[in-house]
Amino acid sequence: MIPYGKQDITQQDIDAVVEVLNSDFLTQGPRVPEFERSLLKYTGAKYAVAVNSATSALHIACLAIGLGKGDCLWTSPITFVASANCALYCGASVDFIDIDSATNNISVDALKKNLEIAEAEGKLPKVLVAVHLAGQSCEMQAIKSLADQYGFYVIEDASHAIGGKYQGAPVGRCEYSDIAIFSFHPVKIITTAEGGVALSNSKQLADRMRLFGNHGITRDQEQMNQVSHGPWYYQQIELGYNYRMTELQAALGISQLNRLDDYVSMRNKKALRYSKLLKDLPVILPLIGESIYSSFHLYIVKLQLEKIGITHKQVFEYLREKEIGVNLHYIPLFMQPYYEEKGYNKNNYPNAINYYNTALSLPLYVGLTEDEQNYIAGSIREILL
Ligand SMILES: *Cc1c(COP(=O)(O)O)cnc(C)c1O
Repeated sequence: MIPYGKQDITQQDIDAVVEVLNSDFLTQGPRVPEFERSLLKYTGAKYAVAVNSATSALHIACLAIGLGKGDCLWTSPITFVASANCALYCGASVDFIDIDSATNNISVDALKKNLEIAEAEGKLPKVLVAVHLAGQSCEMQAIKSLADQYGFYVIEDASHAIGGKYQGAPVGRCEYSDIAIFSFHPVKIITTAEGGVALSNSKQLADRMRLFGNHGITRDQEQMNQVSHGPWYYQQIELGYNYRMTELQAALGISQLNRLDDYVSMRNKKALRYSKLLKDLPVILPLIGESIYSSFHLYIVKLQLEKIGITHKQVFEYLREKEIGVNLHYIPLFMQPYYEEKGYNKNNYPNAINYYNTALSLPLYVGLTEDEQNYIAGSIREILL
């Protein structure tokens, strides 16, 4: 089976991890702060908190902004469950805003309309999680101006988008958001096996996130409510978690980050090649906005069902039979049993439902060969024509 995504591990990566194994620190040593500094240098953000997954990063981000009972988080329904679950971890609720059918990202128009209604009803969200689906940034400037107008926080779930750009600046710089999150899961652009990071330009939010990712424990005298008892002293001042990243993960991340720009450029070349191979077929190709450089974590096409004589599911089954690991990112979250129970009105999400009925993620990763791409495109041609 040709998978939809796959990591690229070099001898340099292996050497970097082995070096840590032979060193004094497997956790809480010099590599994690070094990885954080590298990510700051790359993105231009001011503060970075590396943790053991993007899911953890989303959780500490929500804790840091003070999300809690009675608050609501808004996000796109077309995302991985973690973008919404972080609200539930904090006792808050979740609402979804439909996507834009051109970009498959959250629709700014729908967001605007929903904010007007929410304001009238006194139910404005505390935070919006803007998900950069497939590596294409959301329209952050427009989102930020709504955030300023209505007074909500913005967290970028940039799990797909490290290495991408918005208005020429690296995604993760947080110019139009309070916090941005990257994931380093092996299917993502660069990997630390499991791992994630939260970036911010706010020292206060970054300090809070670090606290919540490390048991709620501080050694900073300024945060303590009494004078230190001695050199051993620390205080727990919040209920935090152990979300720390290990030195092994950070060493792998530092090594991988060196190749990030090459990876993203290779992904863009392969995406362009797919678009050429598929351009005369009854599919809608990815449409990338003018001020956006996508990291192309995913290459997603949408079937023009009205032009073909078979179903979405049949296309999947045919390609899987051909050993092509096509996938669907994602099932709308309001259709997941855990969320469905909360009673979302499906009529509010026509674009998300249309997306779910037509979308197809094609294999895309650094090691994917031209022959494999030809085979994939050829198989799609066979089944669609
Ligand atoms: C992968 C992913 C996550 C979670 O990342 P982990 O590092 O696996 O916790 C969150 N949001 C989106 C959009 C993702 O794709």
